[in-house]
Amino acid sequence: MTLVFASNNAHKLAEVRNIMPAGIDVLSLHDIGFEQEIEENGTTLEENSKIKAETVCQWLKSSNRQSSNRQSSNRQSIDGVFADDTGLEIDALGGKPGVYTARWYRLNDGMSAALNDEMMIFAANRKKALTELADKEDRGAQFRTVITLILFENTDIQVSGIVRGRIAEEEYGQGGFGYDPLFIPEGYDKTFGELPAEIKNNISHRARALAELVKLLNPSE
Ligand code: IMP
Repeated sequence: MTLVFASNNAHKLAEVRNIMPAGIDVLSLHDIGFEQEIEENGTTLEENSKIKAETVCQWLKSSNRQSSNRQSSNRQSIDGVFADDTGLEIDALGGKPGVYTARWYRLNDGMSAALNDEMMIFAANRKKALTELADKEDRGAQFRTVITLILFENTDIQVSGIVRGRIAEEEYGQGGFGYDPLFIPEGYDKTFGELPAEIKNNISHRARALAELVKLLNPSE
């Protein structure tokens, strides 16, 4: 089975390829030649993941590109498109930033210049998290991922995965991406930034959502 992962995030793509079992081939947007920015204007993770999957699906259908042109001599037929949307939900902030996780540093602060560099955005977001939690004792939080899969021959599927944990008092580790240097998953005393990728890819929100998805695709497993 060949699926397109509708994300431009190289970190997520690496994780997803690592987690997906043999037999499910994952193509990137680059592999299929999709170069548009997708506007994530939904108000929930569910809506945004659907918008991403539907946009790429429509593009493939409208341009009759349901086989990848990675190597024209070896065209691969595409079975569907899936997209994830992830939010960091912090207990003491009533579940915020949630759907605004990607650009939290700018929320309610039109004065902050928009950053272009991905690493600078991640760093600004982590600084915002530490500032917002500075006077909070409750550091409980969770990552929640919603995945929408659209199979060309079938109905849409939506699954989700959660990992509970807490926000550290400062950043630890260089691994992963985004808020990983701040997030200590339940059962561990190190952040995702410090833990080996194999552990994150076993217990993360994304791993759990993907496991649900794979179960639905292979009901016998
Ligand atoms: P997206 O909208 O699903 O791309 O994710 C929103 C933001 O959540 C990203 O820009 C990251 O800052 C953050 N994020 C998503 N997944 C992870 C993760 O696995 N670890 C840390 N941060 C993440």
